[in-house]
Amino acid sequence: MSSPSVSPRERARDAALSRAVGEGLLGPGAPLVGLLDVDGVLAAVDALNEAFEGPAAVQHTFAAKACGLVPVLRLLAEAGMGCEVASPGELEQALAAGFTPDRLVFDSPAKTVEELEFALEHGIAINLDNFQELERVDRLLAGREPSGPIGLRVNPQVGAGAIGAMSTATATSKFGVALRDPGAEDAVIDAFVRHRWLNRLHAHVGSQGCPLPLIAQGIGAAYDLAERVNGRLGHARITGLDIGGGLPVNFSDDDDRPTYADYVAALRAAVPGLFDGRYTLVTEFGRSLLAKSGTIGSVVEYTKSAGGRRIAVTHAGAQVATRTVFMPESWPLRVGVFDGAGRPKEGPTEVVDIAGPCCFAGDLTATARELPVIEPGDVVALYDTGAYYFSSHFSYNSLPRPAVYGYRTNADGQVRLALIREAQSVREVVEESGLAHADALVALCADGPEHGTTKEVAE
Ligand SMILES: *Cc1c(COP(=O)(O)O)cnc(C)c1O
Repeated sequence: MSSPSVSPRERARDAALSRAVGEGLLGPGAPLVGLLDVDGVLAAVDALNEAFEGPAAVQHTFAAKACGLVPVLRLLAEAGMGCEVASPGELEQALAAGFTPDRLVFDSPAKTVEELEFALEHGIAINLDNFQELERVDRLLAGREPSGPIGLRVNPQVGAGAIGAMSTATATSKFGVALRDPGAEDAVIDAFVRHRWLNRLHAHVGSQGCPLPLIAQGIGAAYDLAERVNGRLGHARITGLDIGGGLPVNFSDDDDRPTYADYVAALRAAVPGLFDGRYTLVTEFGRSLLAKSGTIGSVVEYTKSAGGRRIAVTHAGAQVATRTVFMPESWPLRVGVFDGAGRPKEGPTEVVDIAGPCCFAGDLTATARELPVIEPGDVVALYDTGAYYFSSHFSYNSLPRPAVYGYRTNADGQVRLALIREAQSVREVVEESGLAHADALVALCADGPEHGTTKEVAE
């Protein structure tokens, strides 16, 4: 445990896991838990700020979908971040966390009239997704000046990264105005000519799997277009460029790779004018700020063999590791094994599948991994799960959301834990399943219309 190769991140994580086990927060009564390294999150924010230091004003926003937990959002708000939201729920979470409207950016491909009215009324920055939405906002404004910036999302169509589902800049992506389609650039320029309130361009090339040169190429296309628009209008109408998020995360060891500094270096090389201060830059990173600070801990309930394969049955499956379970080649996770007292396990190894509790055969978080021999009562940890894992619950099998704790460690290795989110109770699961309407269908059959008639269906 005290080997010199142990990183500070790993030491803190091991200490937090052992503390959670010691306090019974992870154990027989609570077999699944999420843990978040608060110092790790704050270090990521610092690294982001440092990388972008320079003449250009920058507003860093956190993409709420990566971890929409209110205490996490509040921590980031206190650290000076803004917040990118893309649904009414994320918007309310961000406001509840204390972000003022001027620190929010509202992105979503399906914003309703009501949502747009709210954003316009509160001066929240909006990125419009398409020309229909642009005309809708023009009607809502009815000649008024919006108090927040309004941008148009463009799809530079630079192609996909390693994971198709994460790539938003493909030829046929559902996001933004597809810039390379015939006439699209002219239509964008025309939109800026016709709408004096339009003053930003937005491009988010993709998330995990998009290499830095691809991201830089996409942002470069948005920058070139901004230059063209401003040239055409004869003044700097476009004052802000929202360059999205999507810095990939290294899931294979404890290093941050690539870093924000690598990202900025790639962008500076490809698009030097971007940083000269003529544009306010907005970023929307999610995964890269949180992923490496999160851990899922689960008690091993049983171990068994099937067809010569060892299997450890845990409580962490598709409900907390949805992408890993459904696309294991794209989202492999590192696995750690601890004993029932929360100490890292050493000694002989075996090749084992790590299974979750869901009732389908593919509910595996790792397959054929060589790991220390696992026994019932041990704890299995899934690393780098701070973004899009325990915070993005999938309610398969009506499994409840696990509790999430934040942790900090001091120089002596002392750990302090804080509850971020309570575990969902089974009672709450039942209540969210229509409990209040338990009789609805039986009553419909008892006194509703006869089969085959539509009588009385309309109220
Ligand atoms: C998901 C998303 C982000 C964040 O992506 P990460 O890969 O988590 O950094 C940023 N902007 C938009 C528009 C997104 O949809």
